[in-house]
Amino acid sequence: MNRLARWLVGMVALGAVLPFAGCKGTNILSKNEEIRLGREVAEEVEKEYVVSRNPADNAMIESMGQRIVAANQLDWPFTFKILEDSQVNAFSLPGGPVYVYRGLIDLSEGDEDEIACVLAHEIAHITRRHAAKQYSQGVLADIAILIGTQGAVQDIAQITSLFVSMRYSRDMEYEADSYGIRYAFRAGYDPNGLIRFFTKLQRLEKEGQGDVITNNLRSHPMTGARIERAKKEIERISQEVTAELEAQYAARNR
Ligand SMILES: [Zn+2]
Repeated sequence: MNRLARWLVGMVALGAVLPFAGCKGTNILSKNEEIRLGREVAEEVEKEYVVSRNPADNAMIESMGQRIVAANQLDWPFTFKILEDSQVNAFSLPGGPVYVYRGLIDLSEGDEDEIACVLAHEIAHITRRHAAKQYSQGVLADIAILIGTQGAVQDIAQITSLFVSMRYSRDMEYEADSYGIRYAFRAGYDPNGLIRFFTKLQRLEKEGQGDVITNNLRSHPMTGARIERAKKEIERISQEVTAELEAQYAARNR
């Protein structure tokens, strides 16, 4: 058993002694445990996928991500990497790692705001600790099944794919949309980039090309309702953040 597997077995054992009933939505992982889990899984992800070696692209994604983190004073060890895969996808791991697929970068056709909004959305899954909330709602049970009865992990790739294709609830996606809009706007990006990106996803789905959109992005079809909601949130949040910034400015110049 490798390190990740041993650690997961430990987590499952821990899960067995924790009272699950009645604690829905609460985190059973500490912040440090989340960070550690994310790092372990990231190691596996980077063995399975090809991480981009294009220095210009890597610098771009890292600086965009860190700009969002700094503007919102987010206290997690974030990393931002591109995976050389033609599918349209992005995902985050607990505690900090964010990955964007080459297919998504290509789909943006150089629209930085679109990429920034996707990064901000993934960042929000981390800060809102959605993965940890998923464990407490039964994803740990899936891990237990994967680890199997022989006490050995049958397929480490399966564990990795569990995280890569993590399905969040609709409420979690909505929350990540809202927080992402706020994060992107505070960092000076146009939050309407999210609408442009969503509209492209919707078009691909309508054209029957939905199969280029992988797992977690695909698990929640890009509905008109989600796009309409995001538009309203952009209006509300940009007003709120502008008022916040104006108040800060006034306080400084008093
Ligand atoms: Zn999401």
